[in-house]
Amino acid sequence: MVSRTTDDYEAMVYAGCAAVCEPAFWAGFDRSGVEGFRDYFCQLTDYEPKRAAKFGLPHFCWLCINPKESEDTVLAEEVIAIIPEFLDRPTVLGIGEIGLNKNTRNELRILERHIDLAARNGQLVLVHTPHLEDKFKGTRLILDALKADGRIAPGRVIIDHCEEHTIGMVLDAGYWAGITLYPESKTTPARAVDMYEVYGLQNIWLNSACDWGRSDPLSIPKTALEMRRRGHSEATIDQLVYQNPVRFMSQSPRFTLGA
Ligand SMILES: [Zn+2]
Repeated sequence: MVSRTTDDYEAMVYAGCAAVCEPAFWAGFDRSGVEGFRDYFCQLTDYEPKRAAKFGLPHFCWLCINPKESEDTVLAEEVIAIIPEFLDRPTVLGIGEIGLNKNTRNELRILERHIDLAARNGQLVLVHTPHLEDKFKGTRLILDALKADGRIAPGRVIIDHCEEHTIGMVLDAGYWAGITLYPESKTTPARAVDMYEVYGLQNIWLNSACDWGRSDPLSIPKTALEMRRRGHSEATIDQLVYQNPVRFMSQSPRFTLGA
């Protein structure tokens, strides 16, 4: 949402969205130092919740240095060192989106450091998986790294940007599978519903990617429409687009939708 306009918050409220959960991500440019991340974490934990609250929309976030910038391991270690200062803020859900981008050795090392940070602080974890040809191998490397550490229960980790060829291995290993809706490079509403029809409801979470490129903050309501069009029941739709994410995030004591 840091890259979106206030109109998007308004549109989401009109479409029935109940909360926004924003991962720390690549901002469209590489930040030059740790202080850039400190400012960004203040934006995510202070300014954005206030902006969203103007429209009655609860705003939560995840904190990390994203895989794309973690190739600079010196900077990444500096950023990981300041994250604990922010973990007690009232809208922080956990560590994310960590993961891999090009499956490099440095990215993997920083992924392991983030897993350690989450384990030591009892945090939920949100994981980004690489795109296109790197996705299958990257997802397997991520599952191996989580298993090797072993301190975080799979039910407290969501592996995001799952596609048809990776969702099975994520669910089989006991993790939550995120399906990310995006006009380019990720999944359309129709493909997401196809995957639900194959894999069912258990531990699947839909989310919309929003950034500085072509992206659609209303992709969750649009997926609900696609399910309705295919004849799925209201109870099923509610389970997939609302109850499932609430169930996952309620593992954090800081997640609440109020009265
Ligand atoms: Zn991502």
